[in-house]
Amino acid sequence: MTKYIFVTGGVTSSLGKGIIAASLAKLLQERSYKVTIQKLDPYINVDPGTLNPYEHGECYVTDDGAETDLDLGHYERFLNSPTSQNNNVTTGRIYDTVIKKEREGAYLGKTVQVVPHITDEIKRRVKLLAENGDWDIVITEIGGTVGDIESLPYLEALRQLKREMGNTNCINIHLTLIPYLSAAKELKTKPTQHSVKELLQAGIQPDILVCRTEHKLSDEIKSKLSLFCNVDQKSVIEAKDADTIYDVPILMLKEKLDIRVLKALKLKSSKKPELTAWKEFLGRHKNPTYEIKIGLIGKYNELPDAYKSIYEAFVHSGASNECRVIVQPIHSERLETDELEKYLSSLDGVLVAPGFGERGIKGKIRAIKYVRENKIPFFGICLGMQCAVVEYARNVMKLKKAASTEVKPNTPEPVISMMEDQKNIKNMGGTMRLGSQKCKLEKGSLAYRAYGRSEINERHRHRYEFNSEYKTAFESAGMRFTGINPKSELVEIIELNDHPFFLGVQFHPELKSTVEKPHPLLLAFVKATLKTKLNEKA
Ligand code: GLN
Repeated sequence: MTKYIFVTGGVTSSLGKGIIAASLAKLLQERSYKVTIQKLDPYINVDPGTLNPYEHGECYVTDDGAETDLDLGHYERFLNSPTSQNNNVTTGRIYDTVIKKEREGAYLGKTVQVVPHITDEIKRRVKLLAENGDWDIVITEIGGTVGDIESLPYLEALRQLKREMGNTNCINIHLTLIPYLSAAKELKTKPTQHSVKELLQAGIQPDILVCRTEHKLSDEIKSKLSLFCNVDQKSVIEAKDADTIYDVPILMLKEKLDIRVLKALKLKSSKKPELTAWKEFLGRHKNPTYEIKIGLIGKYNELPDAYKSIYEAFVHSGASNECRVIVQPIHSERLETDELEKYLSSLDGVLVAPGFGERGIKGKIRAIKYVRENKIPFFGICLGMQCAVVEYARNVMKLKKAASTEVKPNTPEPVISMMEDQKNIKNMGGTMRLGSQKCKLEKGSLAYRAYGRSEINERHRHRYEFNSEYKTAFESAGMRFTGINPKSELVEIIELNDHPFFLGVQFHPELKSTVEKPHPLLLAFVKATLKTKLNEKA
């Protein structure tokens, strides 16, 4: 029988529920349990696909083409196992399902209400994961903070599940903040007491408290929390701020979070988590031999979460190369007029980020010309690859008016154009080319050498593509198309010869990079960048 763990948050947002959930899942996975993680998001968008990255950070795409919360990226990076549409459910999706059912007549004669219809649908979504997969444990993170109006139906669903399944089959971990008042030189427990009171009001007694803190929790503080929050003192877990998110599983192991969870769920496990591969990765990450600086050119740089998976993928591929990758965010709009030298000449490599719309495109194209001509290693992702195509058309093939129809709908040289099956689509949500697609690699290419095989699957999220009518012209001018979708014939990878590393991909490699399996293309990019830097110095 599947056991359920709910992670709720108290006192404030941004405490890192996703990282705590992923770290716990990692420890349980090391104990040989099959674990998956789900995120319930209490907002009304049906999924985060229509959200601006400034609102909610990166939109993470799963193999099955779901546009999801960025926490799913952490789950995959930590667990090295894919998530799916069922791993992220929003209030919008819950209501959408219930309202559609109402229109179909599924509740004929009944008044449709938050309780029981919305709460029933929440419970169904939680159990769906176990029905469709062979999971011993499902960890469900409830987004937002306890006390928010929109969280209430989720808490009621959790209360009911605890009641129906029993307290040893369904537990609640409450992640909370213990603030430090520097004037009083004291850690304060009162906000946590209040937050637990909110949970109790909803009928939920937390089983474990995980306490974010800047300072060590004394026994006195733990005993106070235990007494006032009705939690066993051993289940008051300290979560001190860590240097990196990748320290958190180790910290939680030291704090015995996994043992407390197993005890609460009445599960026995004699296998102690070793985290051997994880510790090796951490060792390499923290003690690099080399260092490179890579410019990340994008337009959402004010919010690093907008490029979360790219930053993390560089941590993984850097560690494997014993190299610290310093990612230098560069706003593409700055590159539109300013001296390029100032921003780009000190970089060892450049990555042009994915994105949508016209803003910042000019700067991206200018930067690509610079790195192509100055032989600075280059990696383009999705829009980054499309910009590389436009740059090549304009500056090498002298098609001065070449553009993407996303930016210039009436361009006479549409080298990037809307995919045929996108043209009649009216709805914005969930309608792009999404999810995992096959791609065939050309033997001997950079990409083929990086992957070490000729067939790959990568995740997509776009509406525009390389316009195949221009293929021969580009090839004659020296561009190589080394990755092609075998079914649709769409171009997925471009490369240039006579350059230390120049590669663009229509898909998103960053989404599949994990601690245990860094992405082959980003590994190759970091390696080539490091090699170029060392050769220049020699
Ligand atoms: N805006 C481009 C498209 O829709 C690129 C998308 C992306 O970078 N994810 O094709």
